[in-house]
Amino acid sequence: MEQKENIIELKHITKTFEDGFHAVEDFNLEVKRGEFVTFLGPSGCGKTTTLRMIAGFDIPSEGEILLNGKPITDLPPHKRPINTVFQRYALFPHMNIFDNIAFGLKQKKMPKGVIEKKVKKVLELVDLEGFENRSVSTLSGGQQQRVAIARAVVNEPEILLLDEPLGALDLKMRKEMQLELKAMHKELGITFIYVTHDQEEALTMSDKIVVMSEGKTQQIGTPEDIYNEPKNAFVADFIGDSNIFNGIMTGHLRARFCGGEFDCVDDVEEGTHITAVVRPEDVILTAPAEGIIQGEVTSVIFKGMHYEITVASGKNEMVIQSVKSAKPGDKVGMRVDPDNIHIMIAEDHTNIF
Ligand code: ATP
Repeated sequence: MEQKENIIELKHITKTFEDGFHAVEDFNLEVKRGEFVTFLGPSGCGKTTTLRMIAGFDIPSEGEILLNGKPITDLPPHKRPINTVFQRYALFPHMNIFDNIAFGLKQKKMPKGVIEKKVKKVLELVDLEGFENRSVSTLSGGQQQRVAIARAVVNEPEILLLDEPLGALDLKMRKEMQLELKAMHKELGITFIYVTHDQEEALTMSDKIVVMSEGKTQQIGTPEDIYNEPKNAFVADFIGDSNIFNGIMTGHLRARFCGGEFDCVDDVEEGTHITAVVRPEDVILTAPAEGIIQGEVTSVIFKGMHYEITVASGKNEMVIQSVKSAKPGDKVGMRVDPDNIHIMIAEDHTNIF
């Protein structure tokens, strides 16, 4: 398969603010042309700061940003072929929709006929055909955000940055817009760099996810990689629901955690302290005698498509996603296929058994 070239590269980027705070530290990233890349992490982890450096609103304290192989680290925002959509739509309230979208094109002194064509085309793209003369105040939040997106793509940037663009919308509208944005990305073929702290949103939309915490990259990979092969306990905990245990390797491909000895596929040296991660959907409930570990059901919550069952096993607790129900007080066994046990070298050696 043809390998696409990098459109943007961040090399050893650090941002230290005047008060000495390191918002981003030694951040490295390569984005391919046309990719949908998402920065995902908790509030304050440096997502917006990184985006602002790509846009040119902030200058890195250290490191280099390359666009199509050429340095742009200090280039002012208006000289970069990059546009940003913010969480708050930032539309001009006194202008109608046409003027809001046409604003940048008029400043570039494009011919009127060309502007009209371009505005019409982006309004179709965001599903707002015929809205040219409406005033901003007559639009819903979702419609206003579509106008903001139309305005950002009308002058055909190479990269579109989206900073929590759906953050102000209600859940239903958010879900709808996620799918629409993904479709728009496909249709436009431009590179999207998206910021969110919502892991489900990141998993749904992205080609590549950059998981961040405290200004550092924790893992970069496809949604499947990040979900199925979390690199550390932070990623495992942040993406999806996880059971996380401290443990130790007791032999070749054998690990002890949660009061039992499990076969696993990660080849880690015997005696190594580990963190073992098991997804709730990967725990198999059995009769007590058939389980690797045993326990007692403490709670059962109906979740629509499945039940969330919590089982106490010694001092540990295992959360299980199951299509079959159970009752608090039931005695059960639990097994996990070796493939579904994710072993990491322990970062925190305390609390082992
Ligand atoms: P959120 O999801 O809440 O928007 P974020 O991951 O986008 O968070 P940033 O906005 O990049 O986080 O902020 C990263 C850290 O840098 C935060 O602790 C923030 O307080 C700090 N920070 C941001 N701007 C400045 C500034 N101008 N001066 C000092 N510290 C700043």
